[in-house]
Amino acid sequence: MTSDTITPYMKRTDTTPERMAEFWGEDWAIFKGPLECPHCHADLRDHENGPPFKREIGIDINDRIAYWRCPDCSQNFERNQPTPGSFRTSNIVVQS
Ligand SMILES: [Zn+2]
Repeated sequence: MTSDTITPYMKRTDTTPERMAEFWGEDWAIFKGPLECPHCHADLRDHENGPPFKREIGIDINDRIAYWRCPDCSQNFERNQPTPGSFRTSNIVVQS
C-alpha cells in the first residue's frame, strides 16, 4: 500500500492521505505488528477500516496501555512495541 491509498475509514470520514500522515505518521498505510493474536492466531488487522487500524483491545491502567486483549479469544498479550504504532486501535478499555 502506498500513501495514495484510500481506505474504507478515509472514505467514510472524508479524510485525505495528508491528514492520515499528520495523525498516524508517514507510514500510516502499513499495519504495525503484532498482526495476529499469539494465542489463537486471529488476524488483528482491521479490514473494515483499513490501515493503520487494528482490532486488538488496549487495556488502560492508570492512563497507560498496560497490555492488549484479543477481540476473539479474550486472552491478554504483552505490548511488545511501545511505539505510536501500538496505539493504532480505537478499542481502549479502562480498568481501575
Ligand atoms: Zn486470540
